[in-house]
Amino acid sequence: MIADYHVHTYFSSDCKVNPREYIQKAIDEGMKEICFTDHMDYDYPDENGLAMFKLDTESYFKELRQLRAEYFDSIKIKIGIELGLNPVNEEKNRALADAYPFDFVIGSSHIVDGKDPYYPEFWSFRNTKEAIMDYYKAVLRNVTTYDDYDVYGHLDYVRRYVKDKDYVYVDEDFYDITDMILKNIIAKGHGIELNTKGLSNGLTYFVPTISLLKRYKELGGEIVTVGSDAHYTKSLGYAFKTARDILINTGFKYVATFEDRTPTFAPLT
Ligand SMILES: [Zn+2]
Ligand SMILES: [Zn+2]
Repeated sequence: MIADYHVHTYFSSDCKVNPREYIQKAIDEGMKEICFTDHMDYDYPDENGLAMFKLDTESYFKELRQLRAEYFDSIKIKIGIELGLNPVNEEKNRALADAYPFDFVIGSSHIVDGKDPYYPEFWSFRNTKEAIMDYYKAVLRNVTTYDDYDVYGHLDYVRRYVKDKDYVYVDEDFYDITDMILKNIIAKGHGIELNTKGLSNGLTYFVPTISLLKRYKELGGEIVTVGSDAHYTKSLGYAFKTARDILINTGFKYVATFEDRTPTFAPLT
């Protein structure tokens, strides 16, 4: 069973799950390792007067370290983070990633020009293709100027939230810019993740899609982690058998795990 490298707990403001519940499920399912990656989004707008996605890093480390010690004989527990990347946050993100001994850092684009594609406002003032292009431009800017991450999270996240039901998303329409993004990630020794959350939400594809994953491989990409992006206990490890088959069929021989920000490669069998 592939280790789950994208898991949210009650340390994220959009999740209520106690990390202990995931650990128990991971052990029950024969997972040898789990990496928690709670949110820190310095520029996420407040909602109803509440700060969103601001990680209490001290408490996070304290609790996960205790669990790591407690479950030492049963499962490896890694402490990661999902950082919301944006040029305005770069200094804060870098400082945080350097201040704590994270095993693993996912860099993700959630907010572009102050808006999350999850919400209709992101899509309201330009056509769908322009909005998607603006999202990728933001990702490209991040991978160009910011280096302190290990894998880029849910690379084509934006397509999950297209609001125009008549719009047909075609990967090739964005290959010019997604190739630039992938080449940059590869050249700097970073990786991407295969995020299985889309499928558990009723979509028919992983994030990124198989064609984008294939492009990554063709361009020389080797580092891939697999993550369920779980916000509920039942989502842990969701569709990981399919993820493994997709990786193998796309030509990957290994899946990555991380310790102290350094990848190890486990054979895909
Ligand atoms: Zn995310
Ligand atoms: Zn996430």
